[in-house]
Amino acid sequence: MTSAGMVLRSHTGVEYRFDPGALCLELLVTGGPGPYRRYEVLHAPDDLVAWAERSRLTPTPRLRVTAEHVAAARRFRDALLRVVHAPTPDGADLEVVNAAARRPALAPVIGPGGAKAWAGEPDGEQLLATVARDAVELLTGAFAHRVRTCSAADCRLVYVDTSRPGSRRWCSMEHCGNRHKVRAARARRTEGG
Ligand SMILES: [Zn+2]
Repeated sequence: MTSAGMVLRSHTGVEYRFDPGALCLELLVTGGPGPYRRYEVLHAPDDLVAWAERSRLTPTPRLRVTAEHVAAARRFRDALLRVVHAPTPDGADLEVVNAAARRPALAPVIGPGGAKAWAGEPDGEQLLATVARDAVELLTGAFAHRVRTCSAADCRLVYVDTSRPGSRRWCSMEHCGNRHKVRAARARRTEGG
Protein backbone atom coordinates (compact mmCIF):
# COMPACT_ATOMS: atom_id res chain seq x y z
CA MET A 1 0.00 0.00 0.00
CA THR A 2 1.22 3.51 -0.81
CA SER A 3 1.14 6.34 1.72
CA ALA A 4 -2.14 8.14 2.28
CA GLY A 5 -3.31 10.90 0.05
CA MET A 6 -3.81 11.67 -3.59
CA VAL A 7 -1.21 12.72 -6.11
CA LEU A 8 -2.13 16.11 -7.55
CA ARG A 9 -0.42 18.25 -10.15
CA SER A 10 0.24 21.95 -9.70
CA HIS A 11 -0.48 24.45 -12.48
CA THR A 12 3.23 24.29 -13.33
CA GLY A 13 3.00 20.52 -13.71
CA VAL A 14 4.78 19.49 -10.51
CA GLU A 15 3.30 16.43 -8.79
CA TYR A 16 2.74 16.49 -5.04
CA ARG A 17 0.89 14.39 -2.50
CA PHE A 18 -2.17 15.84 -0.80
CA ASP A 19 -3.74 13.98 2.10
CA PRO A 20 -6.94 15.77 3.11
CA GLY A 21 -7.36 13.38 6.04
CA ALA A 22 -10.82 12.06 5.14
CA LEU A 23 -12.38 10.10 2.30
CA CYS A 24 -15.16 12.66 1.71
CA LEU A 25 -12.63 15.48 1.35
CA GLU A 26 -10.76 13.48 -1.28
CA LEU A 27 -13.81 13.86 -3.51
CA LEU A 28 -13.51 17.67 -3.34
CA VAL A 29 -10.38 17.64 -5.50
CA THR A 30 -12.46 16.47 -8.51
CA GLY A 31 -14.02 19.87 -9.22
CA GLY A 32 -16.98 21.78 -7.82
CA PRO A 33 -19.57 24.47 -8.40
CA GLY A 34 -18.98 27.93 -9.89
CA PRO A 35 -15.29 28.81 -10.20
CA TYR A 36 -14.30 25.19 -9.49
CA ARG A 37 -16.12 23.97 -12.63
CA ARG A 38 -13.01 24.32 -14.78
CA TYR A 39 -11.27 21.70 -12.62
CA GLU A 40 -14.03 19.14 -13.27
CA VAL A 41 -12.67 15.62 -13.80
CA LEU A 42 -15.86 13.58 -13.27
CA HIS A 43 -17.31 13.37 -16.76
CA ALA A 44 -17.92 9.68 -17.46
CA PRO A 45 -18.38 6.48 -15.39
CA ASP A 46 -14.70 5.57 -15.78
CA ASP A 47 -13.76 8.87 -14.12
CA LEU A 48 -15.62 7.92 -10.93
CA VAL A 49 -14.04 4.45 -11.03
CA ALA A 50 -10.62 6.12 -11.38
CA TRP A 51 -11.36 8.39 -8.43
CA ALA A 52 -12.23 5.38 -6.24
CA GLU A 53 -8.87 3.90 -7.21
CA ARG A 54 -6.98 7.06 -6.21
CA SER A 55 -8.97 7.43 -2.99
CA ARG A 56 -8.11 5.98 0.43
CA LEU A 57 -10.73 3.22 0.02
CA THR A 58 -8.97 -0.10 0.61
CA PRO A 59 -9.19 -2.35 -1.27
CA THR A 60 -10.37 -0.48 -4.35
CA PRO A 61 -13.97 -1.62 -4.95
CA ARG A 62 -14.75 -3.03 -8.39
CA LEU A 63 -17.65 -0.76 -9.21
CA ARG A 64 -20.55 -0.73 -11.63
CA VAL A 65 -20.99 2.94 -12.45
CA THR A 66 -23.58 4.61 -14.68
CA ALA A 67 -23.82 8.16 -16.03
CA GLU A 68 -26.54 8.79 -13.41
CA HIS A 69 -24.12 7.81 -10.63
CA VAL A 70 -21.58 10.29 -12.01
CA ALA A 71 -24.17 13.07 -12.11
CA ALA A 72 -25.20 12.23 -8.53
CA ALA A 73 -21.55 12.25 -7.43
CA ARG A 74 -21.06 15.73 -8.93
CA ARG A 75 -24.24 17.04 -7.25
CA PHE A 76 -23.16 15.54 -3.93
CA ARG A 77 -19.63 16.91 -4.22
CA ASP A 78 -20.84 20.41 -5.06
CA ALA A 79 -23.22 20.36 -2.08
CA LEU A 80 -20.50 19.07 0.25
CA LEU A 81 -18.08 21.76 -0.91
CA ARG A 82 -20.65 24.47 -0.13
CA VAL A 83 -21.40 22.85 3.24
CA VAL A 84 -17.75 22.84 4.35
CA HIS A 85 -17.24 26.44 3.22
CA ALA A 86 -20.44 27.93 4.61
CA PRO A 87 -20.54 29.22 8.20
CA THR A 88 -24.17 28.05 8.29
CA PRO A 89 -24.80 25.32 5.71
CA ASP A 90 -27.77 25.60 3.41
CA GLY A 91 -30.61 23.18 4.21
CA ALA A 92 -30.89 22.00 0.62
CA ASP A 93 -27.18 21.19 0.50
CA LEU A 94 -27.39 19.28 3.77
CA GLU A 95 -30.30 17.30 2.36
CA VAL A 96 -28.22 16.29 -0.68
CA VAL A 97 -25.50 14.98 1.66
CA ASN A 98 -27.99 13.30 4.00
CA ALA A 99 -29.98 11.70 1.18
CA ALA A 100 -26.80 10.12 -0.20
CA ALA A 101 -25.84 8.91 3.31
CA ARG A 102 -29.20 7.19 3.72
CA ARG A 103 -28.62 4.90 0.72
CA PRO A 104 -27.01 1.46 1.17
CA ALA A 105 -23.22 1.83 1.43
CA LEU A 106 -20.34 -0.45 0.47
CA ALA A 107 -20.36 -3.45 2.80
CA PRO A 108 -16.94 -4.58 4.05
CA VAL A 109 -16.47 -8.36 4.41
CA ILE A 110 -13.66 -10.77 5.24
CA GLY A 111 -12.56 -12.26 1.92
CA PRO A 112 -11.69 -15.92 1.26
CA GLY A 113 -7.98 -15.32 1.99
CA GLY A 114 -8.71 -13.39 5.17
CA ALA A 115 -8.24 -9.98 3.58
CA LYS A 116 -10.81 -7.20 3.54
CA ALA A 117 -13.13 -7.18 0.53
CA TRP A 118 -16.38 -5.52 -0.52
CA ALA A 119 -19.57 -7.58 -0.61
CA GLY A 120 -21.40 -8.27 -3.86
CA GLU A 121 -21.03 -6.16 -6.94
CA PRO A 122 -21.13 -2.65 -5.55
CA ASP A 123 -22.26 0.27 -7.67
CA GLY A 124 -21.69 4.01 -7.83
CA GLU A 125 -24.58 4.73 -5.51
CA GLN A 126 -23.04 2.58 -2.77
CA LEU A 127 -19.72 4.33 -3.31
CA LEU A 128 -21.44 7.68 -2.89
CA ALA A 129 -23.27 6.49 0.25
CA THR A 130 -19.95 5.47 1.78
CA VAL A 131 -18.45 8.88 1.00
CA ALA A 132 -21.56 10.65 2.32
CA ARG A 133 -21.48 8.70 5.61
CA ASP A 134 -17.84 9.66 5.96
CA ALA A 135 -18.91 13.30 5.53
CA VAL A 136 -21.59 12.93 8.21
CA GLU A 137 -19.07 11.42 10.63
CA LEU A 138 -16.49 14.11 9.85
CA LEU A 139 -18.82 17.09 10.09
CA THR A 140 -20.49 15.90 13.31
CA GLY A 141 -17.33 14.51 14.90
CA ALA A 142 -14.49 15.65 17.14
CA PHE A 143 -12.60 17.24 14.24
CA ALA A 144 -15.52 19.09 12.64
CA HIS A 145 -14.04 22.45 13.72
CA ARG A 146 -10.69 21.43 12.23
CA VAL A 147 -11.92 21.28 8.62
CA ARG A 148 -9.99 24.07 6.92
CA THR A 149 -8.94 25.53 3.60
CA CYS A 150 -5.22 25.68 2.79
CA SER A 151 -3.63 28.94 4.04
CA ALA A 152 -2.10 29.76 0.65
CA ALA A 153 -4.06 32.60 -0.92
CA ASP A 154 -4.19 30.89 -4.30
CA CYS A 155 -5.10 27.40 -3.02
CA ARG A 156 -8.59 26.22 -2.14
CA LEU A 157 -7.85 22.64 -1.10
CA VAL A 158 -9.83 21.53 1.95
CA TYR A 159 -8.40 19.23 4.63
CA VAL A 160 -9.10 18.17 8.19
CA ASP A 161 -6.30 18.92 10.62
CA THR A 162 -5.96 15.82 12.80
CA SER A 163 -2.52 16.77 14.13
CA ARG A 164 -2.26 16.89 17.92
CA PRO A 165 -1.44 20.59 18.19
CA GLY A 166 -3.94 21.46 15.44
CA SER A 167 -1.36 23.58 13.69
CA ARG A 168 -1.60 22.28 10.12
CA ARG A 169 -1.76 25.24 7.72
CA TRP A 170 -1.12 23.77 4.32
CA CYS A 171 -2.70 21.28 1.94
CA SER A 172 0.76 19.83 1.55
CA MET A 173 4.11 20.81 3.08
CA GLU A 174 5.92 19.88 -0.13
CA HIS A 175 3.65 22.15 -2.19
CA CYS A 176 2.04 25.19 -0.54
CA GLY A 177 4.15 24.88 2.63
CA ASN A 178 7.30 24.96 0.58
CA ARG A 179 6.12 27.80 -1.67
CA HIS A 180 5.44 29.79 1.52
CA LYS A 181 8.93 29.07 2.90
CA VAL A 182 10.52 30.22 -0.36
CA ARG A 183 8.46 33.44 -0.38
CA ALA A 184 9.24 34.13 3.29
CA ALA A 185 12.96 33.63 2.69
CA ARG A 186 12.83 35.96 -0.32
CA ALA A 187 10.99 38.60 1.75
CA ARG A 188 13.62 38.35 4.50
CA ARG A 189 16.41 38.78 1.95
CA THR A 190 14.67 41.83 0.49
CA GLU A 191 14.23 43.41 3.92
CA GLY A 192 17.82 42.58 4.91
CA GLY A 193 19.36 43.63 1.61
ZN1 LIG B 1 -2.44 24.53 -0.71
